[in-house]
Amino acid sequence: MQDIVLKKDKEKSLLRRHPWVYDTAVAKAGQKGVKIAAGEMVRVVSHDGRELGFGGWSPASTLRVRMFTYAGEEAPQPGFLTRRIEKAVAARASLLERTNARRLVFAEADGIPGLVADMYGDWVVTQFQSAAVQANSEEIVAALMKCTGARGVFDRSDAATRKREGLEEHVGVLAGEEPPAIIEVVEDGVKYGVDVRVGHKTGFYVDQRESRLAAQNIARAFKKETGRGLRALNCFCYTGGFSLALAAGGAEEVVSVDSSAEALARAQANAELNGFAPDVCKWQQADVFDYLRRVREAGDTYDLIILDPPKFASSHYHVDRAARAYKDINLNGLRLLRAGGQLLTFSCSGAIDTDLFQKIVAGAVIDSRRQAWALSRFGAGVDHPLLMTFPEGEYLKGLHLKLCD
Ligand code: SAH
Repeated sequence: MQDIVLKKDKEKSLLRRHPWVYDTAVAKAGQKGVKIAAGEMVRVVSHDGRELGFGGWSPASTLRVRMFTYAGEEAPQPGFLTRRIEKAVAARASLLERTNARRLVFAEADGIPGLVADMYGDWVVTQFQSAAVQANSEEIVAALMKCTGARGVFDRSDAATRKREGLEEHVGVLAGEEPPAIIEVVEDGVKYGVDVRVGHKTGFYVDQRESRLAAQNIARAFKKETGRGLRALNCFCYTGGFSLALAAGGAEEVVSVDSSAEALARAQANAELNGFAPDVCKWQQADVFDYLRRVREAGDTYDLIILDPPKFASSHYHVDRAARAYKDINLNGLRLLRAGGQLLTFSCSGAIDTDLFQKIVAGAVIDSRRQAWALSRFGAGVDHPLLMTFPEGEYLKGLHLKLCD
């Protein structure tokens, strides 16, 4: 095994068990003349020769090594990936009482940097996003099949991170049977059809489960308090996640907006799957930025608005532009709320942290000349745990606001 020697002082993050070694931290990679293969296991040592742990070599990426173990821990033994997968899957078992759509492996948080595995019904859908997990894909796929009893493993390794790793895109079956065109899943009593071949991420936003349940409960509480169902506007609805949750909670009308015709077609089919009437679930193909302005001109108002946009900031370079976009939709959303109205607003941009997001939304509240309480905060569910030594794992954040003036 080859040694990767770090520059002076570059061992600090590894001593805090943070899993990333950047290319700029590496002083020397292996013995002279020896090429280290993509995904090969390497030993990382400090400039003065102290062993810092073992990780996977990514020659094409700026994240040059991703750690599997740290100083003082046992070095990775054969089968360690299988054992980590078993542990990750076992940790999510209790979710099955609520849903058969869940994350099984969340990369760094489960000690397997670069590996994402979600399960929909009887199929596992994978994303291999580092050279090391790609190099060990056979063991990983076998472990996933064995410890889940899945009928098949389908690969959706088409995320942009593949390119940064120097890996080709791959979409297709890795083990077992082809999944059906649409996999039907159930979450907190609501049915969703998931297209694992072309859907976003691995097909569905499993990370929004807790917020969808909150939306369902808000709709239910509203009906109990007021005696009528709420009127809601769900922006960036994708395949109707929040729309159907609201309808299940007894909403009277949910207008859902997305720019994608394919997403809306799936959303509509999902509403039918649940037997929700077309006068309850309404679908609009439009750009949300324009749509919110048009609704204001038309004078429509809502009891509840949901804003769950795509990642506006893909990196730190885009934070300013993204902040303006978040501010714009939140301001225009707030303007459409009735007295006492509620806003569920989200950001999945890792580059915009919880504090900054709250400041942006507060700015929108100030400019709207309304007053609001934040009743609660949202984040990804328990199948996307935040590893305390890896703060980058926290990307999804949300606020539940209620107008109080
Ligand atoms: N809320 C969804 C996930 C949203 S994903 C859920 O819980 O499942 C983001 C969605 O925003 C995608 O469906 C994409 O088509 C849509 N989108 C992106 N930019 C948009 C825009 N400017 N106007 C309307 N929809 C947009």
